[in-house]
Amino acid sequence: MTSHGTLGVAVIGTGRMGADHVRRLTDVTSGARVAAVVDIDAERVKGIADGIEGCAAYTDPAQAMADPGVNAVLIASPGPAHEAALLAAFEADLPVLCEKPLTPDAASALRVLEAEQKLGHRRVQVGFMRRYDREYMKLKALLDSGELGRTLMVHNRHRNAEVPPGYTNQMLINDSVVHEMDITRWLLDQEITAVTVLRPRPSGNAPEGLDDPQLVIFETEGGVLVDVEINVRCRFGYQVQAEAVCENGTARMGDVHDILVNHAGRWGGTIAPDYVERFEDAYDREVQAWVDATRRGEVTGPSVWDGYAAAAVCEAGVRAQAEGRRVEVELIERPALYRA
Ligand code: NAD
Repeated sequence: MTSHGTLGVAVIGTGRMGADHVRRLTDVTSGARVAAVVDIDAERVKGIADGIEGCAAYTDPAQAMADPGVNAVLIASPGPAHEAALLAAFEADLPVLCEKPLTPDAASALRVLEAEQKLGHRRVQVGFMRRYDREYMKLKALLDSGELGRTLMVHNRHRNAEVPPGYTNQMLINDSVVHEMDITRWLLDQEITAVTVLRPRPSGNAPEGLDDPQLVIFETEGGVLVDVEINVRCRFGYQVQAEAVCENGTARMGDVHDILVNHAGRWGGTIAPDYVERFEDAYDREVQAWVDATRRGEVTGPSVWDGYAAAAVCEAGVRAQAEGRRVEVELIERPALYRA
């Protein structure tokens, strides 16, 4: 850190999320600056670095981590590149905010879990930003308070207006439903033990090769049933809703995230076009929490264990989807480093 305690961050991967985090660290977050940017696209990374005072451009993450101005790493490259970047950050013993997924599968997540345990201390916050969304935080506080009794079921709706060409059934689980996997584990403080995937007749909007929408059902270790309508080409906007059904009441979020307007005999509001707008506050809070914890010498938020558990649930989900049956989640015993 600089003499003023400002965190010098290397942002690895400067595509949609990485560029947005560069903007956030520069314009929104306090206590941090972008000291380096890294991308395999040399032209792109130079263009970004040129617009930020004192920011160096690299094409190799390890070189950026060796830059004396860098004392923390934000990984926003595609999932398959995360393991190498995480291991390099452990080598340099630098704190990390790693975009979800931790890695694309449970075996590689397990390697990262083992490597962090060898360090002997937590280094990574995983980018499951929904935990920093105001509505989800309120829902969790309410469920934790016990006021509504025990949670019995949670109904989720996850709708995207559109997905890029080439989006597959597997990506629907690994890239989209992974968020419900993490938020379910966090809201209920329980592991997911089994996954089932059901499909209605496909929408006429579904592109060739993609069955859309789908209904994903989780069972948890405490006997809670959780369903997720995943609907990635709904056309009308980006919508994330959850309703917890408890013994003595229900709690629902995500119906409205902006003002309601009464006008010309109608009432209504707008729907966010995408996750960047819907979860803007959550991303801001997530990155600020990471910077603040790092400057205090702490690691908070979703851990490598959470990244590994989500990867294991994704694997069960992809198998359940492909094989058309209920698949149990295989998890190792939770290591001491990740017990509360
Ligand atoms: P993107 O394709 O827009 O950008 C990825 C960038 O990384 C590109 O500029 C690419 O050139 C670069 N890159 C590729 N390999 C690299 C490597 N080995 N080292 C450095 N840079 C490399 O992708 P995106 O949508 O920005 O997604 C990036 C990450 O963010 C993924 O892990 C994705 O799952 C995650 N993501 C998270 C959320 C969320 O809501 N938390 C939303 C979208 C994406």
